[in-house]
Amino acid sequence: MIIIILGAPGSGKGTQAELIKKEFNLDHISTGELIRNEIKKKTKNSAIINQYLKQGKLIPNNIIINILYSKLKKNNILLDGFPRNIDQAVFIAKKNITINYIINIFTKETTIIKRIKYRLTKYLKNYNIIHDYPKIKNRDDITGEKLTKRTDDLLNIIKTRFIEYNKYKKELIDWYKNRTDNTKIIDVNGETAIKDILFFIKKNIINYEKNI
Ligand code: AMP
Repeated sequence: MIIIILGAPGSGKGTQAELIKKEFNLDHISTGELIRNEIKKKTKNSAIINQYLKQGKLIPNNIIINILYSKLKKNNILLDGFPRNIDQAVFIAKKNITINYIINIFTKETTIIKRIKYRLTKYLKNYNIIHDYPKIKNRDDITGEKLTKRTDDLLNIIKTRFIEYNKYKKELIDWYKNRTDNTKIIDVNGETAIKDILFFIKKNIINYEKNI
């Protein structure tokens, strides 16, 4: 099974991705996380990547595709944050990778701003200092490492990330709708509780799988 999860920054995309990968036993590939690792490891592309990231802009396609290339498989993956535009979708299609499901999370900008204001992160795990706080203040539950604020989680940058996301999203969905691969698009209300969103996504996928 190949699933793409789409959602604006702060939509709950990363949280749901972590849960869905466990439910369906998939490898979770988050391009945002791959990018942050490049910066951490100070690879040759890290300076240029950082420039885009800090502005909330999308990384150029050739760079992101290069980073993703060796990680892509033909089955059992949950793609989180990729594709973000049609060129990236074409790249996947050319590799003969067929997408079974697109989980399309809708969350209002006002909700997103509220969530991101209180978000602290370590690796793929997000915490919210108001309602999903760590066991020890500002420390990751698993590693005990200090939680940080993502450099692109500042309010002015969030606005750009939101605009960038919406700029390409509709044409990306339309592109998949116009293909004959039978990709199922699951529209999800991202305003409800984490467990309800997961339940809704699971129910839809299980129902579709039964009818194949
Ligand atoms: P995310 O963690 O998915 O919100 O991504 C964080 C940032 O990484 C984005 O704002 C972009 O700068 C960059 N990024 C992640 N995925 C992609 C992608 N598929 N194409 C271009 N830039 C990306």
